[in-house]
Amino acid sequence: MKKLPGKTSGSGSAGWKETLCSKCKALCCKYITVEIEEPKDDEDLDNIRWYMIHEGVGILVEKKCWMVRMNARCRYLRKDSTCGIYEHRPEACRQYETENCDYRTVSEGVPKAYREFEDFEKFRNYVKGRWRRKKRKE
Ligand code: SF4
Ligand code: SF4
Repeated sequence: MKKLPGKTSGSGSAGWKETLCSKCKALCCKYITVEIEEPKDDEDLDNIRWYMIHEGVGILVEKKCWMVRMNARCRYLRKDSTCGIYEHRPEACRQYETENCDYRTVSEGVPKAYREFEDFEKFRNYVKGRWRRKKRKE
């Protein structure tokens, strides 16, 4: 599930048909994520609102990791969902593994520690709820 720094393999290599990726439409090769700081005040929230008013942009929160997600298909993703530069794919693609990947999320359900937001109002309510809980603990 965690998408930092990036993506998966996906290839026409030997043994490809036996892999989980061969059953998938390369879900993880159709967006990127960039880590951000957890918002601390209204100014931070407004900056994130700016991200989220753009189509195809959302926020992911997984434990203490906050990320902007931007839908963007990889230029090297082939029509058959294999990687066109498998031998030379970026390190981020190499490091991303199927253990908690998007395909598993779709087939097995979203882990409890994971939140995804497309709607800014819902995101703001989530963040403000966290602020309130933190304040009560102080
Ligand atoms: S989402 Fe998972 S199964 Fe699909 S291509 Fe990426 S790593 Fe492979
Ligand atoms: S380089 Fe290959 S593995 Fe990486 S995102 Fe593109 S298609 Fe997917």
